[in-house]
Amino acid sequence: MADHQSALIDRINQLRRTRNAIILAHNYVFGPVQDIADFVGDSLELSIKANNVREAVIVFCGVRFMAETAKILSPDKTVLLPVDGAGCPMADMVTAAALRNFKKRYPGAVTVCYVNSTAAVKAEVDICCTSANAEQIVRAIPRDRKIIFLPDRNLGANVANATGRKLILWEGHCPIHLRFTPEMIKRRRAEFAHAALIVHPECPPEVVALADVALSTGGMLKFARETEYREIIVGTELGIIYRLQQENPGKTFIPLSEQAICTNMKKTLLEDVLTSLETMRHQIELNSEIIARAAVPIRRMISGKPEL
Ligand code: SF4
Repeated sequence: MADHQSALIDRINQLRRTRNAIILAHNYVFGPVQDIADFVGDSLELSIKANNVREAVIVFCGVRFMAETAKILSPDKTVLLPVDGAGCPMADMVTAAALRNFKKRYPGAVTVCYVNSTAAVKAEVDICCTSANAEQIVRAIPRDRKIIFLPDRNLGANVANATGRKLILWEGHCPIHLRFTPEMIKRRRAEFAHAALIVHPECPPEVVALADVALSTGGMLKFARETEYREIIVGTELGIIYRLQQENPGKTFIPLSEQAICTNMKKTLLEDVLTSLETMRHQIELNSEIIARAAVPIRRMISGKPEL
């Protein structure tokens, strides 16, 4: 088994060089895939990285919308998604046509779109955000402007609570984070009385209200490094625990729920990364007009200076 894995890794390393490829991975993917990646991060960190890639090929270990974002930011590169069917149910909860109709009901509203969305939807919006910068983006919008926030109604509601801004919310959600409940928090708090409790802002507001802090996965990694707490209860997809534990061997990380597994994030295995590099499949193809339009809201987000 160990021999098989090291043979896979050797072959991936060989091909990574000959193909002039960089491997990017999200914090939620399987540990061994995180280990072979050149860069592991949250959506914002990965977008920034994808914007500055020198290599000719980007292998994206995550889900489709992330690979699409890389293609939009680096249209001249070949972007590979090792598993074609790795999608995000939340991203599929809004289509470009449905959004165009929705926007007609709120003329003049600014449309803020979580990066967990398709390229076609991004092409219809004013600015993108991630869970790391959603509050900052919303605060930067003039107070007299209406704001439509999509597709995650939970992230939107949490941002509205934090900023005091009224947001018009799209009815989407992450099925994984939706499963966290206040009861789970009470149970874990009773079991680990001295632990800090951190959750992802895709959790419902009643869960966020009972946590110590809501953070993106990148924010969770920073919190874990800097906090004096030795035990930390973590309310997000289980994949993050691998990196948290690796970076903080002296601390204990307790999942808020053992069931918080995103099957899409877990589809990519080392074998898929290897096949992708061998065969150059599955390439992200986007129409050039969509790329040009979707790049505008993503670049506004990355610049940190939304000019709306
Ligand atoms: S964890 Fe939720 S938001 Fe992230 S990819 Fe999975 S379903 Fe989509």
